Amino acid sequence: MKKAVFLAENTTTFQKLGAKFTDSILPGCENVPFRTDAYWECYLRTFSVTLHHIVGTCAMGRSSSPDAVVDTELRVIGVKNLRVVDASVMPVVPVSNTQAPTIMIAERGADLLILAHMGHTERPGTTGPAANHTAAGDNRIVPSQAPPPPPVLKSVLKAVNSKFGVN
Ligand SMILES: Cc1cc2nc3c(=O)[nH]c(=O)nc-3n(C[C@H](O)[C@H](O)[C@H](O)COP(=O)(O)OP(=O)(O)OC[C@H]3O[C@@H](n4cnc5c(N)ncnc54)[C@H](O)[C@@H]3O)c2cc1C
Repeated sequence: MKKAVFLAENTTTFQKLGAKFTDSILPGCENVPFRTDAYWECYLRTFSVTLHHIVGTCAMGRSSSPDAVVDTELRVIGVKNLRVVDASVMPVVPVSNTQAPTIMIAERGADLLILAHMGHTERPGTTGPAANHTAAGDNRIVPSQAPPPPPVLKSVLKAVNSKFGVN
């Protein structure tokens, strides 16, 4: 933070503009002396946001990789019955925005969970039962071809359907 402010106030470009860091005190940091280390700490704690497409805190990767937290089926490596299904599994920031890939991960995660509930251990799209796939390489589960959901899933579906008024 201090380095960034220094650069902004000391580069020739900013100096030409007469730019300097605002002397308005950030609401929430009024009781901390302005521009001290404590002030910058207060500033960061009060004003930081996860705006810039934060990813990778639970990165997907090979189990041998020291950076990997989840495997390619979103399972936390070394922990049973725990998956992470959100933007954090992206190993690198995608070139485009993050929301669409996040939704894709969620769709994939839902498919994986349904398959797991149905007792399939194979990864869809690799060696899984062909009846659950629309075509080679296409991993969507076709409801009409899929085996009936187990009772626990039926009750969840019923609750979701009734919430949204669907029969
Ligand atoms: C201001 C802003 C603008 C954006 N604009 C775009 C855009 O235009 N296009 C685009 O593609 N992407 C955009 N993004 C990025 C996109 O929104 C994210 O990549 C996406 O929402 C990440 O989804 P997520 O499920 O990983 O996390 P989130 O959507 O952040 O979901 C995390 C959820 O966990 C909940 N939570 C947190 N802690 C706990 C806890 N302890 N217990 C229970 N629940 C908890 C939170 O309430 C939240 O609902 C934007 C992000 C921001 C912040």
